[in-house]
Amino acid sequence: MQFDTLIIGGGLAGLCCAIRLEEQGKHCAVVSAGQSALYFSSGSLDLLCRLPDGTPVSAPSNALNALASQAPSHPYSLIGGHIGTDGVMALAHEAQALLGRCGLDLYGHPDLNHQRITPLGTRKPTWLSPVDIPVTTLEGQLPWRKPVIVGIEGFLDFQPQMVVSSLATEQGITAEVAYLHLPALDLLRNNPSEFRSVNIARVLDQPQHSAALADELSRLAGDADCIILPACIGLDDNLALERLRAAVDCPILLLPTLPPSLLGMRFHQAMQRRFNQLGGIFMPGDKALKAQFDGQRIVGVYTRNHGDIALRARHLVLASGSFFSNGLVATRERIIEPVFGLDILSHADRGDWCQADFFAPQPYLHFGVKTDGGQRALLAGQALENVYAVGAVLGGYDPLRQGCGGGVSLISALYAARQIVLAQEK
Ligand SMILES: Cc1cc2nc3c(=O)[nH]c(=O)nc-3n(C[C@H](O)[C@H](O)[C@H](O)COP(=O)(O)OP(=O)(O)OC[C@H]3O[C@@H](n4cnc5c(N)ncnc54)[C@H](O)[C@@H]3O)c2cc1C
Repeated sequence: MQFDTLIIGGGLAGLCCAIRLEEQGKHCAVVSAGQSALYFSSGSLDLLCRLPDGTPVSAPSNALNALASQAPSHPYSLIGGHIGTDGVMALAHEAQALLGRCGLDLYGHPDLNHQRITPLGTRKPTWLSPVDIPVTTLEGQLPWRKPVIVGIEGFLDFQPQMVVSSLATEQGITAEVAYLHLPALDLLRNNPSEFRSVNIARVLDQPQHSAALADELSRLAGDADCIILPACIGLDDNLALERLRAAVDCPILLLPTLPPSLLGMRFHQAMQRRFNQLGGIFMPGDKALKAQFDGQRIVGVYTRNHGDIALRARHLVLASGSFFSNGLVATRERIIEPVFGLDILSHADRGDWCQADFFAPQPYLHFGVKTDGGQRALLAGQALENVYAVGAVLGGYDPLRQGCGGGVSLISALYAARQIVLAQEK
């Protein structure tokens, strides 16, 4: 099987790169082993929220020079070394436009972070948030004074009391707690392990339950000025939420829940849909196992499902994620990238991989594949000619502490797509 580009990993980075290439007429296939980090994410994407020295960042564009001096191996610093910080920011704008073409309705701007309300009711800076979740400007406050936070009886992945308590301490907002009682959910509630956001949404999304849900929410709202629900509605689209909003005389917003996260899944579905519509081939449940090399090029990839039939492409993009997605693996002695055996940025001594204090910055979060400035992956110190690494598999940054996970995935993916198109034009 022959493609222009073969992408390993169908998470945020892999899909972004694949969509951009398909939009430019390059035929792509994505091989993706399992669920991506999006299924576990908040649904908001971070660009850059904190410098390595701990300085908070409000305007990412103003912080990229400081980032380059504090973290020269950060993907933004490497890419910026080639196309400048303006080039990095241009890719952030391009990413936002691409997500818009996927049909995602997002709030935010690359030039200025905003605050999203977390599942615990606290505030966290970020770049892009689904329009359905409550957000504020960096210094601002939520516009509501009497919201009602609606939990679902028996649903453990969202705790309304915690939200109420954080809103009171952080923003002086007096919110009420209420619980949704809907007979349609009783059958599901009988099995606590099945009582999760996705299964609840499968019930709440059905049009025949809309009227009862709207009546119950109107009753619970009382004189509240806003209803905040756990994100357990709208698995495939926003129709159920729109029906609810039309029927209830009070604004309705959603908060992300513990995984599985509907808001993150919506990202994945929208991006995969766009990729398929553009003519791309998505191979879910398949896993890249090993490569066939010809000098500094990879000329074939063998996967679990295709056995001894190699997938062939002019360019390869490794978007296999970090430890969480098995894009990186820790053995007793070292950190490896298991498909191609690429060079890894890490510490040689296992004792230096982690800090004993759970809340301290963890060195292993910086580990990942090394690339040259053109985003090409390094093997034995040399850049492979046709292999690019993007997203969480990359080394040199800490997505948790620096708040840059989503941005690194999108910007590195778009940069690789650009490099691939340029290489093909030569
Ligand atoms: C639990 C969690 C929550 C996060 N939440 C946020 C958030 O709210 N906001 C934010 O900005 N960032 C968040 N991040 C950071 C996150 O890493 C990035 O935002 C981004 O989603 C990573 O995308 P990715 O495509 O690089 O990797 P992933 O999403 O990890 O996707 C990699 C994909 O590659 C597949 N794969 C791996 N190996 C192979 C193989 N050999 N063959 C084929 N497929 C393979 C995996 O199954 C997976 O589907 C979170 C990270 C984690 C781990």
